[in-house]
Amino acid sequence: MQGRIIKGIAGFYYVTAESELYECKAKGIFRKEKMKPLVGDLVEIEILDEEKKLGNIVDILPRKNSLIRPAVANIDQALVIFAAKEPNPNLSLLDRFLVTMERQEIPVLICINKEDLALPEEIEEIKTIYQRCGYPVIFTSASKEKGIDELRAVLNGKTTAVAGPSGVGKSSLTNLLAPGIDMETGEISKKLGRGRHTTRHSQLIELWQETYLMDTPGFTSFYVENMEKEELRYYFPEFQDYEGSCRFQGCTHTHEPGCMVKEALENGKISRKRYENYLEMYRELEEKRRY
Ligand code: GDP
Ligand code: ZN
Repeated sequence: MQGRIIKGIAGFYYVTAESELYECKAKGIFRKEKMKPLVGDLVEIEILDEEKKLGNIVDILPRKNSLIRPAVANIDQALVIFAAKEPNPNLSLLDRFLVTMERQEIPVLICINKEDLALPEEIEEIKTIYQRCGYPVIFTSASKEKGIDELRAVLNGKTTAVAGPSGVGKSSLTNLLAPGIDMETGEISKKLGRGRHTTRHSQLIELWQETYLMDTPGFTSFYVENMEKEELRYYFPEFQDYEGSCRFQGCTHTHEPGCMVKEALENGKISRKRYENYLEMYRELEEKRRY
């Protein structure tokens, strides 16, 4: 039988297959290849006990992709949620997240919730900055139930990893998307016999057919690691138009004369906030290497 791993806890994998949930262990030959099943994996299972819903994972189907942190597989896109107000959007954090996703080649959608609390010009500013870099930006208000259909449309048929600081409205939005599903406890807590107080793990939540949200606690630390500072510039999509046209080959767009990125910045074609966050991350990567 074929299924999908929606959660993994302490050597057990919870696999949905044909509308049932099976508790499985990994027994397949893939173990010899040192492959560890990941949440999101499509797997072949054999049933050991149909009544108790126990089984073995005997094969892992080829992965579309896999992330290292969080360790999950077969993600189509990431949805990063911030609030327009309360808390104010931390654009430095957002840019770090975008960099880590660009690096792993995962498309990102930006959702700005609590639209009801912000002024039109504040909304416009965020929209302009990020749409100009090519990121879709969706504005929602969970309390006014605005933008929910638009959100449904971009999620439909995909597996989407959800990220964002706490308090921005992730649970409120999830509840609107699929009423009755509790993001905190998920669907399977009953079977596990545990409540809210367990350590949270990555899990897949089926919103509707073929449509999953990947709830990934800890996805809120957007730490850029093991990166050369010279690599960072490739993860700012708006710099790519100028890549190779600066006076110096390998221009890092930080201090070099004849830099086209800096010229675009002066002409207002590149956002100053984004550029400042680039410099901040660049300096951090530079300093880390000196230690
Ligand atoms: P989470 O921590 O990201 O899951 O955020 P919650 O969904 O728990 O929401 C945090 C707080 O923000 C709650 O008090 C919500 O009622 C409130 N909230 C969520 N969405 C909105 C919104 O669109 N507008 C306003 N004004 N408040 C919201
Ligand atoms: Zn340059």
